[in-house]
Amino acid sequence: MISNPLMFAATSDFSGVTRGKAFPLKDMEKRFRQGVGWTPTNVQITCFDTIADSPFGSFGDLILVPDADTAVTLDLEDGGPIERFVLGDILHLDGDPWSCCTRSILKKALKRLENVSGLRLVAAFEHEFQARDKSDGPGEAFGLASFGKHRQFGETVMAALETAGVKPDTFLKEYGSDQFEVTNGPDLGVTAADTAVKVRAVTRLVGERMGEPVTFVPIRDPAGVGNGVHVHMSFVDEKGAPATYDPDAPWGMSAKTGSFIAGILKYMDSIVALTAPSAISYARLTPHRWSAAFNNLGYHDREAAVRICPVTSASADSAARQYNFEYRAADAAASPYLVLAALAHAGAQGIEESLAAPQVTEEDLSELSPDALSERGFVRLPQSLDDALERLAGNALIAQWIGSEAIDTYVKHKRGELAHIADLTEAERCARYEAVY
Ligand code: GLU
Ligand code: MG
Repeated sequence: MISNPLMFAATSDFSGVTRGKAFPLKDMEKRFRQGVGWTPTNVQITCFDTIADSPFGSFGDLILVPDADTAVTLDLEDGGPIERFVLGDILHLDGDPWSCCTRSILKKALKRLENVSGLRLVAAFEHEFQARDKSDGPGEAFGLASFGKHRQFGETVMAALETAGVKPDTFLKEYGSDQFEVTNGPDLGVTAADTAVKVRAVTRLVGERMGEPVTFVPIRDPAGVGNGVHVHMSFVDEKGAPATYDPDAPWGMSAKTGSFIAGILKYMDSIVALTAPSAISYARLTPHRWSAAFNNLGYHDREAAVRICPVTSASADSAARQYNFEYRAADAAASPYLVLAALAHAGAQGIEESLAAPQVTEEDLSELSPDALSERGFVRLPQSLDDALERLAGNALIAQWIGSEAIDTYVKHKRGELAHIADLTEAERCARYEAVY
């Protein structure tokens, strides 16, 4: 069949869906300069493809300009078409970043962090997902036999990620039924979020092509396990040297690392609507699910909102290079750009305020009384998206960081999404989100 190969220029927008437009590959040079036309109200297309209340209406024109460094060309050698996509920024016609461009929002956040601290953020998003076709029986969690059933899929995903410029790290049959996890090596700054978008797109594509479709839905069944996105973070200084670890400080946190984490925890209830942004995300953020229910710091504790991860002397890498902490209250309904932007701003704020490093918790916070929790500065995270949006909209500081037009628009977007599923049961909502993510 005849073919004019197309390149898909993409954005990961407020809905966390990767959307865009394609152009003939042979026009690449021109398109990489001029971009493709984009419409402001597109940002109000919810994950269910309804359009939420839009401040832009039918007005305005923007351009989606690809960043050539992110281009992916992927031939799975299965006889199917070659996949081509490239990530980009949404700009005004004069080239200025648009207020609701998630990638531009992240760039601004990273700049702020660098300005206030001299630190550059390094990150890796760890993704859990599930096979859409339920086939697991008992005894499959982390099992060799169940891994074997999906080996071909895992090996193809790892090969495809490498081709897409991602550093594949591990692939595992996770604990939950039909659940898997894929991890990748860290990247600097905006590239870390680009990588997360690629991991989701590539894993999904491989699943579709192999007849083993997958879902990154935050939680498939309110009684089952959640699919988390854990964001591992560390810092390098301007020269690229590791700057996260201090062997003499409590729990190894350098002073700036301590303030950064304290900032995340202080503002966490106001930013969680950006990192866990679906109606069902809050069924996952409950105690004893190994996700996060409080704004606490744990040391090797998987129930903590932020966890200091292990370093091993068996590794050739120095402790300073390995040392990282992970934010566990994110999921794949969120755009990775907004997740990282929210974390970078909250952390930068913590450094600006010279917050003291948080105390590490070593007990089950769900067993403490509300008084005992508040005495120690812990809050239960919002328990619904509605509640999370109230806290986001009610904290003027977040609008100052991210931009008030972006936050106002985002809140309208999410309220539109909620209205669409208002009459559904929790199980029906899970099914709706599973169809999307
Ligand atoms: N599935 C858990 C989550 O929803 C995480 C389990 C783990 O620690 O890998 O975040
Ligand atoms: Mg996991």
